Amino acid sequence: MKEDCIFCRIANGLIPSTTLYEDDDFRVILDLNPASKGHALILPKRHSQDLCSLDDETAGKVLPLAGKLGTAMVKALGCDGFNLVQNNGEAAGQTVLHFHMHIIPRYANGPKIVAWKPGTVSKEEMAQIAEAVKAEL
Ligand code: 5GP
Ligand code: ZN
Repeated sequence: MKEDCIFCRIANGLIPSTTLYEDDDFRVILDLNPASKGHALILPKRHSQDLCSLDDETAGKVLPLAGKLGTAMVKALGCDGFNLVQNNGEAAGQTVLHFHMHIIPRYANGPKIVAWKPGTVSKEEMAQIAEAVKAEL
C-alpha cells in the first residue's frame, strides 16, 4: 500500500467509505460524485497506478467482479444497463492515480452520459495506426 494514496487508504479501510463488496484483493465503494445512481468503483487493495502496471492475476479478477456488481445493480436498483469505464492517464480523465474500474448504472430515462462524438478516419490512416500499434505488441 502507498501511504499517500487516497484509494490505497480507502481500499484498506483506513478511510471510511460506503462499501458494496470486500474480499482479500478488492473493495468496491460508491463514488462520492456519482454520474448516476449507484455509480461504484472497484479498488484493488494493492497499489498500482493504472492498468499498465496492474498485475495479471488482479486484472483477471476485475471483469468477473464488475459483472457480479452490474448484475446486482440491475436487480437492486432497477437500472437498464451499466457501463464499465477505466481511465488511464490524465489525458484520459484519470484523476486518482490508483487503478480503479467505474461501474456506472444506466437508466433508460437518464441521466444522459455522452462519452465521445463519433469521428471519421481514412482507410490509409487506419492501416498506419494498425501497423504502428502492432509493432509495439
Ligand atoms: P477517475 O477520474 O480517476 O477515473 O475517477 C476518480 C473517481 O473517484 C471520480 O469519479 C471521483 O468522484 C471519485 N472519488 C475521488 N475521491 C473520492 C473519495 O475520496 N471517495 C469516493 N468514494 N470517491 C472518490
Ligand atoms: Zn494506491
